[in-house]
Amino acid sequence: MMRALTVNPAKKTLRLAERPPPRAPKNTEVLLRILDVGICGTDREIASFEYGEPPPGAEDFVLGHEALAEVIAVGPNVTSFQPGELAVPTVRRPCSSPRCPACRAGRQDFCITNEFSERGIVRADGYLAEQVLEEERYLVEVPQALREVAVLVEPLSVVSKAAEEYAVIHSRFAFEAPRSRGLVLGAGAIGLLGAMTLRAAGFETYVFSREPEDTPRAALIGSLGCHYVSSGRTPVERLRERIGAMDMIFEAVGVPQVAWGALPALAANGIYALTGVPALGEPVPGDLRRWMRDIVLNNQLIFGTVNAGRSAYEQSVFRLEQFLALFPKQLRELIRRVPFDEAPQIIANGRGIKDVVSLAH
Ligand code: BGC
Repeated sequence: MMRALTVNPAKKTLRLAERPPPRAPKNTEVLLRILDVGICGTDREIASFEYGEPPPGAEDFVLGHEALAEVIAVGPNVTSFQPGELAVPTVRRPCSSPRCPACRAGRQDFCITNEFSERGIVRADGYLAEQVLEEERYLVEVPQALREVAVLVEPLSVVSKAAEEYAVIHSRFAFEAPRSRGLVLGAGAIGLLGAMTLRAAGFETYVFSREPEDTPRAALIGSLGCHYVSSGRTPVERLRERIGAMDMIFEAVGVPQVAWGALPALAANGIYALTGVPALGEPVPGDLRRWMRDIVLNNQLIFGTVNAGRSAYEQSVFRLEQFLALFPKQLRELIRRVPFDEAPQIIANGRGIKDVVSLAH
């Protein structure tokens, strides 16, 4: 038997359970030994039974979707992996509807039916288990040099998909357009990876979050060459007055008052990416008239983005190599590892910027 962290939404339990290990790989299957699994807000929502769904017919499912694994065996028709190599599995699996052009084209991150599954999130087991069997086409190759940080590939893929969308939108200009000033909302793992991405692309980068300005997190942001703005000193509605207009805003906080409150800071022709998923609740008031007027009169573009396609995962591998060269200390500072036994506690009470369950020790 092997150990796995399972969630039972009906019984409201989260526990380290015993599960039979996967069988030997056939055809294009790859058998993986899980090394690291990152924990995020989605996992915490699932562990508090607000989100998540077991596979059809099952009562419980294995948690975890941000994984780094080592290949231990491959099926006879696998061409791109060998035992000993590192791989990051993607999260979303296609729906089966013939009417979903996105899933039929392998772009399940744009699924239109909502019937996709996501490993460790909805209708599929995740990666907080000692071993996992996976189809080769859902695995992304990772160089050994990224062993310590590649657990960040999945969260970074969310940023990389936003960057791909941004690039397409930015190309609408038939003239030299500035892409110089960027604002990140939120200083969690996605926000910080977003800030690194903007910095590495040459943006003058600002990060807005609630931590005071004399905290280690603010210092880390400063050490990336970004400016930190604390909501304690500058309320969101005064952002534009304090830091000026932003050509790009990347939202990674999931709080509608902050997301929409920052809109006046968006420059003419500005592009705004939303990635946070707020819980449903009472309607939040806002100045709809002013927003509509400003967005139209300023040719602004606001888009939402979720999950990521293969290209965004591959871009994330390249980005991590770049970040390791540019921000090696800061990148490692994001990660805080705990052993498998401590997974339930770390899910209940986060400690690091990115808590990572290490299954390798
Ligand atoms: C994951 C995405 C997923 C989304 C919605 C996020 O935490 O990183 O892969 O699509 O949750 O379930």
